[in-house]
Amino acid sequence: MSGYDWPDPGGYRAAAAETIRHHPAVRDAVGSATRTFDASRQAAYAAIDSDAWRDWARDVKTHALGRLDEYLLQAERALESNGAVVHWAETAGDALAVLDELVERHGIETAVKGKSMLSEELQVNRHLEGLGVRPVETDLGEYIIQLLGEPPSHIVGPAIHKSLDDCRELFHRRLGTPLDADPDRLAGAARDALRQEFLAADLGISGGNFLAADTGTVALIENEGNIRLSTSLPRVHVAFVGIEKVVPRFGDLAGFLQLTARAATGQPIGNFVSLIQGPRRDDETDGPDEVHVVLVDNGRTRLFDDDEAWEALRCVRCGACLNICPVYRQTGGHAYGWTYSGPIGAILAPGLLGLEEGITLPHASSLCGACADVCPVRIPIPELLLHWREKGVEAGLDPRAERMGSSAYAAAARRPRLFGVAAEALRRTPWAAIGTSLPILSGWMQERAAPRPSPKSFRTLWKEGIE
Ligand code: SF4
Repeated sequence: MSGYDWPDPGGYRAAAAETIRHHPAVRDAVGSATRTFDASRQAAYAAIDSDAWRDWARDVKTHALGRLDEYLLQAERALESNGAVVHWAETAGDALAVLDELVERHGIETAVKGKSMLSEELQVNRHLEGLGVRPVETDLGEYIIQLLGEPPSHIVGPAIHKSLDDCRELFHRRLGTPLDADPDRLAGAARDALRQEFLAADLGISGGNFLAADTGTVALIENEGNIRLSTSLPRVHVAFVGIEKVVPRFGDLAGFLQLTARAATGQPIGNFVSLIQGPRRDDETDGPDEVHVVLVDNGRTRLFDDDEAWEALRCVRCGACLNICPVYRQTGGHAYGWTYSGPIGAILAPGLLGLEEGITLPHASSLCGACADVCPVRIPIPELLLHWREKGVEAGLDPRAERMGSSAYAAAARRPRLFGVAAEALRRTPWAAIGTSLPILSGWMQERAAPRPSPKSFRTLWKEGIE
């Protein structure tokens, strides 16, 4: 079973509360894994002049996005001259239609997949199943959650919400390993099972971390070698690549591959890097007969047209902003209700899903700014969260209670005497005693202590003269 239904991005508040109150093991697993990732990232950044690298990465991506049409057409020409077939997909349906034709023409029964968030966004597995094709995830984390019928919980570590014991129990049930198997034994069992799938598959599917325009090179980073097998063993390879992944030159890959790995896992570079330009040449022994590169828009052009939100398109999907986010660490990724979770998910959702569907997620943040501090391409995430919140208010999509509260504050602030009386009444209210019984505050007060009011109000202090 590979297709799954995401809950709903609008249900974030309830889903987050459910995780926090009833699934402490998820909190523990996510918190532990993200802290480990982030500690590794810190060390990897400290080993280089990370500020200079991040400035460079921001500038290259900004330049490429500013000339997107030019670089995409250049990439198309280069890919075609290498023998690859390029498809342009405005929507998810257009992208999936490429699979329809290939499955029909080649009689495909099994597809092996490398890890790809874009293929999650497009719901590729569900579509393949509808065509009668058996999709097999080959990244270990993706393989685990596919066996469980769950969506990924993290951009880089899809199964980080699972503990070792969860995996032991799952593999015991599905692959027959002992209940106390060590991690090496579990990985070996997955490797043995997947080896047969690689050999049997007719179709290999991947994403694309970067697309170098000058040479038509799809660059892929991984740690397990499964992407390399997925893209070279089956006779047909399809790479789904977001249009924002283009960079001008092959030489740019050297910087991006290293910076992305450092931001994601703290590695100087991924264990495996695949640079794919086309199908197997006559003098080569390995590689597919056909390579199809699907350039996917699916809402990205709409995001690009937004004067501020376009900066989110620089994202290299490293997951560093998830790892440091105090909100994501508490809830994990499933609460966000769609493919991309954490801070990057919160700024992509209103743009890619539409304001109405995605507006809840920009509120799933404390605006602490930690995400912007770690982002390798310097996306101003807190500013974009506020940008979407403003758009929500302009569209009348802000929560009713918040709107009423803001209106009441504005009305009182225009009347100094009323403001003084109201402020004094609030200062004297015994919040610690009554807060948990007020519907609007009960959720907040369950987890926090009420602040103690100052003995004198600010206005009184002001009148007395503040030193
Ligand atoms: S927004 Fe920045 S930190 Fe977050 S996933 Fe994208 S590139 Fe990484």
